[in-house]
Amino acid sequence: MTITYDAVIIGAGQAGPPLAVRLAGAGRKVAIVERNQFGGTCVNTGCIPTKTLIASARVAHMARRAMEYGIGIDSSITVDMKRVKERKDAVVRRSNEGVEKWLRGTENLTVYKGHARFEDTRQLRIGDEIIEAGQIFINVGARALVPPLPGLDQVSYFNNSTMMKVDFVPEQLIVVGGSYVGLEFGQMYRRFGSEVTIVEMGPRLIRREDEDVSEAIREILQNESIHIRLDAECIALEKQGDKIAVALNCSTGDKKVTGSHLLLAVGRVPNTDDLGLDKAGVAVDQRGYVQVDDQLCTNVPGIYALGDCNGRGAFTHTSYNDYEIVAGNLLDNDKRRISDRITAYALYTDPPLGRAGMTESAVRKAGRKALMATRPMTRVGRAVEKGETQGFMKILVDAETKEILGASLLGIECDEVIHSILDVMYAKAPYTVIQRAMHIHPTITELIPTLLGELKPLDPSMNS
Ligand SMILES: Cc1cc2nc3c(=O)[nH]c(=O)nc-3n(C[C@H](O)[C@H](O)[C@H](O)COP(=O)(O)OP(=O)(O)OC[C@H]3O[C@@H](n4cnc5c(N)ncnc54)[C@H](O)[C@@H]3O)c2cc1C
Repeated sequence: MTITYDAVIIGAGQAGPPLAVRLAGAGRKVAIVERNQFGGTCVNTGCIPTKTLIASARVAHMARRAMEYGIGIDSSITVDMKRVKERKDAVVRRSNEGVEKWLRGTENLTVYKGHARFEDTRQLRIGDEIIEAGQIFINVGARALVPPLPGLDQVSYFNNSTMMKVDFVPEQLIVVGGSYVGLEFGQMYRRFGSEVTIVEMGPRLIRREDEDVSEAIREILQNESIHIRLDAECIALEKQGDKIAVALNCSTGDKKVTGSHLLLAVGRVPNTDDLGLDKAGVAVDQRGYVQVDDQLCTNVPGIYALGDCNGRGAFTHTSYNDYEIVAGNLLDNDKRRISDRITAYALYTDPPLGRAGMTESAVRKAGRKALMATRPMTRVGRAVEKGETQGFMKILVDAETKEILGASLLGIECDEVIHSILDVMYAKAPYTVIQRAMHIHPTITELIPTLLGELKPLDPSMNS
């Protein structure tokens, strides 16, 4: 027997649950289908566990630095990974159970556990059951990419999901991939006590950022004795006794890195290959991302795609914003769009990188007449007081409109500080509004007006 709903949501990640609850609250008969863990990547294998582990790693790091602050610790610093993992598991469990309880406790909402596949444009199969709806919302997320490396089938390796089961400190961890996920895990495990090598095939870490940002992050990681191999295409993997050897194609340094454990962090692929999208006629791009318009509609009327699977963002906040856009359009007569949002994210190395809007290199490429200011964290009083002076702040503004174009803030608490800039960007106010604001002393944010007082024309001859 086919059960008919007004709306079905596939995936209980970051967009699905709030949308299901909103639609059910509006009196619609709704179903949500989840094949694995409630809360999806962010809650179970992404943001929440990694930031919880990073907090433990930072405690270990600060404990080792204690004497810099005049504090003695009368024993050696040890890391009990079982307890580190237990703490992480408890935080994850609270969140994951919270999502499930919320969904199951919502009136008008039915929860299905299983893998959903399209039968046609309206019907979905979950095991032996068939359900149908006039509106279907795809929120299936993404998973770690497994690159086709020779020898990969001969060795064991971790990805961000399997890494969550680790309750020991690997002796030597090789991280393949020098982008956001790889850097966060790399620094975290170095602080837990592993010898860490980050292998990146490109000429610099996190290539999406400006060169000076990549360089500063490389320095920060190397200061913690993390080995970094750039321009190092990973060409083969081999088991060597109880070790894993990674053969590298690189111009400098050893042609081989050997370690006890291997983490692959080389990108993500959307979970759209086993969804029966062809039966529904939903269009995907060459990489499998569901194609959507500015309001998250696919090419098939009544079918929407939200979150990582649409390729229009790869963050929890972009997925949640997708929910807000869909709910605004469907329920509030509020014509919100993806193109209204400003790029914003953080890299949670320590210190973190807070990013908003355009990079310097994007501003240069666009040929914008711009002003730019930079300031090292060594010249930020609060950072000096905290003994955390690594990194720098950079901001760019449009020379004519005075609107802020973008900022890269690499420094202690900059994942928070960036919001003072982001909100003014959303307000489309000139930078002088922040410059004239009285900020609280002593904070990192109080230096943003000072930074803006140091703006100079961007020299177009110096390409970043
Ligand atoms: C290591 C790591 C760290 C991260 N850290 C951050 C961070 O600090 N900040 C940040 O903003 N983002 C971070 N992210 C990214 C963030 O986790 C994702 O962008 C976010 O979870 C995407 O949410 P989503 O709703 O699109 O999908 P997901 O959260 O992935 O949820 C999709 C859900 O759909 C389910 N599903 C898939 N297919 C089916 C099917 N056919 N039937 C039924 N259910 C299905 C899945 O089981 C899953 O539960 C991180 C990611 C990783 C990997």
